[in-house]
Amino acid sequence: MKIAILSQDSHLYSTRRLKEAGEKRGHEMKVINYLRCYINIASGKPSIVYKGRELENFDAVIPRIAASRTFYGCAVVRQFEVMGVFSANESQAISRSRDKLRCIQILAKEGIGLPVTGFAHDTEDIDGLIKAVGGAPVVIKLLEGTQGIGVVLAETHQAAKSVIQAFRGLNANILVQEYIKEAQGTDIRCFVIGNKVVAAMKRQSADGEFRSNLHRGGKAEKVKLTPEERITAIRSAKAMGLRIAGVDMLRSNHGPVVIEVNSSPGLEGIEKATQIDIADKIIQFIEKSVQNGNTNGSRIQY
Ligand code: ADP
Repeated sequence: MKIAILSQDSHLYSTRRLKEAGEKRGHEMKVINYLRCYINIASGKPSIVYKGRELENFDAVIPRIAASRTFYGCAVVRQFEVMGVFSANESQAISRSRDKLRCIQILAKEGIGLPVTGFAHDTEDIDGLIKAVGGAPVVIKLLEGTQGIGVVLAETHQAAKSVIQAFRGLNANILVQEYIKEAQGTDIRCFVIGNKVVAAMKRQSADGEFRSNLHRGGKAEKVKLTPEERITAIRSAKAMGLRIAGVDMLRSNHGPVVIEVNSSPGLEGIEKATQIDIADKIIQFIEKSVQNGNTNGSRIQY
């Protein structure tokens, strides 16, 4: 097969591993910087031009779209879709998952465990909002933050109020969330491919930090999931319409609660922690999907 990896940098660990894994299985792998593509929208003959040439004859694309480039990246993925190319994750599912609010609204509708979460435009009734999620301490999150940036723990009611006012004063959209103290600075990343969790790791935050992101100095190790955690991860990916997803959850005293579903989960941390060849599993999944002609769009409309 001819497979494109849509990535800004061919040296990134995940990009390199996917290229390597595809070539090992006999595929022609091309890394395409989606920001350098331009889209030609012509009725009946959609095309994409990259470095002066039309991109042709691809069987599949693997989108690795940076969070800050979601809009353009998804437009390029969508163009491949209208050209009839299989995408490991659909453009619509990627943009759906990039908005934390939209993501938890969809998960809530499916009855998936979540931290109690509030969202408001106005700062008139901040006290009510903080109380609605159970009172301080609370976690305050910028809607479009990643890698733990824009996630703040406010220990007291007054601190929560000041942070909310400051963010809203800058016109930033924020979520206010129940603080899951019993998670003790750890979270669980489940790597879902198709209908399976293929690997899982536990991330532990650095001392004095409540965020366990590896970018924030967290450490990762392999973890054994409970059947409930496994099912929660699979249901979450499915609810978002993602075929490949990194589902992050916390172990709360009322079961697993999902905090995020990532559409371009990194391979480095989890492959190193679990010694599982996830890149190879992604390529095998694409092979099967393309063979089965599985290019249907997801049916989720919101
Ligand atoms: P990002 O997308 O920026 O990584 P997350 O929502 O995943 O943001 O939060 C970053 C980290 O903060 C998580 O990995 C987790 O360790 C911690 N965290 C997030 N939400 C909560 C919460 N409600 N209670 C306790 N810890 C949390």
